Amino acid sequence: MQAQQLQAQHQSRQLPVLQNQVVVFSKNYLPLAQINIKRAVVLLVTGQAESLDFSSTQQWEVRSPSLVLQVPEHIRLTSGNPERHWKVPPVSRREVFRRDNHTCQYCGSTKHLTLDHVIPRSKGGAHTWDNVVTACEKCNSRKGDRLLHETSMVLRTKPKAPMHPAIAFADQFWKEQQSSNN
Ligand SMILES: [Zn+2]
Repeated sequence: MQAQQLQAQHQSRQLPVLQNQVVVFSKNYLPLAQINIKRAVVLLVTGQAESLDFSSTQQWEVRSPSLVLQVPEHIRLTSGNPERHWKVPPVSRREVFRRDNHTCQYCGSTKHLTLDHVIPRSKGGAHTWDNVVTACEKCNSRKGDRLLHETSMVLRTKPKAPMHPAIAFADQFWKEQQSSNN
């Protein structure tokens, strides 16, 4: 079934059905990711996922010429979690910038970004996730070859290796659930 062929049947909400997001859970009921309804339909139709029956679950009706499908707000993968093979990526410009949200970790600038070793390499600092941060050219040259405590500069966040994307998503998901229940 082609995604373009899907005709959105609008039930109760003002949003077009195909703009809704579906939360995918792993086989072990861990929330993994939020996907758009077209991808959810593909997973359901190909048997790679099933509906998760939460009592408050909202269902959206999606129609194609040959089929009417109820798509719930939560679905669960029926096979193993493909993300389990994820490994912490090697320290690279691209991955560090991504972790730091493309923001200088000293001043918050998003321009002229470079990599900075918190403990300079000349002083034995390693090229590791907990010693490499995104820094703009200005902050990088201001800090120079000094240790952090020899400057007046402060790191906005403590650098650490990126989390497994599913764990990061689950973390955020439960936080949101909690705040919407309060
Ligand atoms: Zn900066």
